[in-house]
Amino acid sequence: FELERLGVHRSVDAIFPPAELVGYLSDLPVDVSVVDEAGIADCDAIVTRNYFESVLDVEWIHSTQAGIDRFPLEALAEEGVALTNSTGIHGRTVGETVAGYLLAFARRLHDQIASATERRWERPEWDEAFTLPGTTACIVGTGTLGRGVADIVGALGVEPVGVRRSDDTLPEFDRMYAVDDLHEAIADAEFVIVTVPLTDATRGLFDAAAFEAMRDDAYFVNVARGAVVDEPALVEALAAGDIAGAALDVFETEPLPEDSPLWTMDDVIVTPHAAAYTRDYYRDVGDIVRDNVGRLERGEALSNQVV
Ligand code: NDP
Repeated sequence: FELERLGVHRSVDAIFPPAELVGYLSDLPVDVSVVDEAGIADCDAIVTRNYFESVLDVEWIHSTQAGIDRFPLEALAEEGVALTNSTGIHGRTVGETVAGYLLAFARRLHDQIASATERRWERPEWDEAFTLPGTTACIVGTGTLGRGVADIVGALGVEPVGVRRSDDTLPEFDRMYAVDDLHEAIADAEFVIVTVPLTDATRGLFDAAAFEAMRDDAYFVNVARGAVVDEPALVEALAAGDIAGAALDVFETEPLPEDSPLWTMDDVIVTPHAAAYTRDYYRDVGDIVRDNVGRLERGEALSNQVV
């Protein structure tokens, strides 16, 4: 198809001002502008964070997120709409956020920050704080996020173990397990870190039996999607002391409802689906879009194409 008009939908505002991306792409030989839902019909292609039915009328949708679980993949295929995602750009950001969680748990920073907000001078118990070298992180999902996490926590002395669909090895991981052996893979890890996409195969992957399989001094980290975890089972495991704590960036319902017990549990860090935030986000997404506009012009296959 001929790309003449590329819209940047206002929903990207949750991550960066849409006008920043429009400015960044102003050198492209196509008309790029910010559009609302009504304006989508005038576009050949759209960059968006959210899904709306009206995007089925364009030729190409680019998702500013890596996760495309909210898009109706079958309907897009039927309508002949191409969908590309933003995988590939979040390894460093999410990796650094996860390293921050691990350092907070080991060095007890979350506790001390909480005390400080109440002007309490409260040190950890003598045996609470520890250092990271010698610990193991089982990283479930070995793509951009999983490898980014492995690189950064590996540099802090943590041994990264990977879980993917097969047990084929990858250089970033010291050992690899197939997801069918998940419980064996997580059994010895001080940290279990979830970095898989939400699909039919991963929905509810972390259930009561998975938390049962973890060490009772282990910390659970989810930076993937909330529905990969059975949230009530997680709350129960935390309350019963079956695991030591959790750092959660994603939830079954977002924003996390005010009455969720997770907000106030000891050793639970809640972040607002912001693990990948960076002031460079619009540039990182813009580079994928620019590359794909070039590919369209040259008649080549799109990169990061999902549908
Ligand atoms: P990638 O596609 O690069 O990696 C996904 C990995 O998951 C693949 O390497 C794949 O490995 C593995 N995988 C897929 N299905 C399964 C399965 N059933 N069991 C075990 N492993 C599986 O994606 P990204 O790393 O870029 O992103 C992953 C997810 O993280 C996104 O889909 C999104 O939901 C979430 N995300 C969250 C962010 C946040 O802000 N918190 C930011 C960015 C992403 P293999 O093919 O070898 O099985």
